[in-house]
Amino acid sequence: MGPVPVIGVLAIQGDVVEHVRALGEAGARAVRVRRPDELDAIDGLVIPGGESTTIWKLARAFDLSEPLRKRLAGGLPAFGSCAGMIMLADRLRDGIGGQETFGGIDMTVRRNAFGRQVDSFESDIELTDVAGPPGQPFRAIFIRAPWVEEAGPAVEILGTESATGRIVAVRQGPLLATAFHPELTGDARVHRHFVDIVRERT
Ligand code: GLN
Repeated sequence: MGPVPVIGVLAIQGDVVEHVRALGEAGARAVRVRRPDELDAIDGLVIPGGESTTIWKLARAFDLSEPLRKRLAGGLPAFGSCAGMIMLADRLRDGIGGQETFGGIDMTVRRNAFGRQVDSFESDIELTDVAGPPGQPFRAIFIRAPWVEEAGPAVEILGTESATGRIVAVRQGPLLATAFHPELTGDARVHRHFVDIVRERT
């Protein structure tokens, strides 16, 4: 194993502390990112769950959105959970007026998609590529979660939600996204998988 990767957590809104803890468990050094220059010092970035409309507004106010788009386009590995998945989508449905994303994954995400039926629920997901005993599903927590409505050919589908058949975990190159919150369950397998992706790239 190489040196300990430094992974930023976008710390403008959302469940930052939970991601910092999970990244530590997964063997990375987690640092909070709020300013554009802090993007230069990281090997990977986590975009937390929270509220994508707020993350978008504050990222613009902090002059982070353009530098972040550039870093993502340049191959920075990133993992987004829930609101973070929305921020990594190239196309968004049911956003508020003027809401944009950082983009990077060739997919269309529908915001609050599960939330229209039921605000929050748990479900066991079979996740491809996520290390752990085979056949051991991942207990996924969904909170007013998005789903992936369509995904381009370069997008690998890592998991679907069993009751709806909807895509809820994807990867495209160094970008990983889940509609649920692995940071809330004390199961660091998804974070470990992301740390492995970051290690492959550094
Ligand atoms: N509904 C939220 C949004 O639109 C996402 C919810 C979450 O991250 N738990 O950003």
